[in-house]
Amino acid sequence: AAKHAGKDRIVRFDPDLRAAAARHRELAAGLRRALAEDEFELHYQPVVRLADGRITAVEALLRWPAAGVPPLAFIPVAEATGLIVPLGWWVLRQACTDARAWHERDGVAVTVNVSGHQLREQDFVERVLAVLDETGLPPAALVLELTESVLVDDAERTARLGRLRERGVRIAVDDFGTGYSSLAYLVHLPVDILKIDRTFTASGVDSTLMRVILQLAEGLSLHTVAEGVETAAQATALRSLGCQYAQGYLYSRPVPAGSLFM
Ligand code: C2E
Ligand code: MG
Ligand code: MG
Ligand code: MG
Repeated sequence: AAKHAGKDRIVRFDPDLRAAAARHRELAAGLRRALAEDEFELHYQPVVRLADGRITAVEALLRWPAAGVPPLAFIPVAEATGLIVPLGWWVLRQACTDARAWHERDGVAVTVNVSGHQLREQDFVERVLAVLDETGLPPAALVLELTESVLVDDAERTARLGRLRERGVRIAVDDFGTGYSSLAYLVHLPVDILKIDRTFTASGVDSTLMRVILQLAEGLSLHTVAEGVETAAQATALRSLGCQYAQGYLYSRPVPAGSLFM
């Protein structure tokens, strides 16, 4: 209906827009309550080293099972309302708690998605270090994932990541290749890992673009993780092109902590 509605009609009254606003408010209230009532869970998806098939890390991915709403539907609302900040701290603490035993037993690292809003907090570095301290997870066992747009945004935030990196925490660029048009920033940023967006894997792992990204990473001494690897053929091709790590349904979907290393 909105597609056909005239311009002035949208200004006066748009039922679609109104419904969307109501859904947004409802979801925001639901998220706030869910956080208070401890309804969130983490699932974990393995990151596999292509050379030998070993699981070297697991990515923590937020789930809201009671509501059955997928992250791509509720995370933007959490971002827009600022709720992503307390939620993000819950994720970090839970992930570090879960990962400690896996790290001790198998040397596995945990990788956690961090929102730009979280990184904007003055005491971000101190809070991350405090979580590591309290959970007993060594800094080297933690990877923080940030998207390109967050990383290029401002020098102060970049400096925070640099301080964490000095302590041994690693930094990954998530969804690499989708967010920003310049590559120059990569040279200056305190990052260790490029997670190559799933769209590049899906559109052909032996594409020119994939080759260029892998060469760029090699030139900058960055490790590479291909996202969204779904077939053995993709994994084989990626490995021969020099991609070091892969993540995707080929190896495992994200699963609850209890079913990870069974
Ligand atoms: P992401 O960080 O890029 O995570 C990877 C997403 O790709 C996950 O979606 C995962 O389930 C999906 N995926 C993994 N392998 C495959 C595959 O082979 N094929 C396909 N089609 N998809 C695959 P998910 O769990 O729905 O999360 C979506 C996004 O939500 C994440 O993308 C991340 O940006 C955000 N997110 C999830 N958890 C958190 C969190 O704790 N904090 C923040 N700030 N964002 C989060
Ligand atoms: Mg991620
Ligand atoms: Mg990603
Ligand atoms: Mg993604």
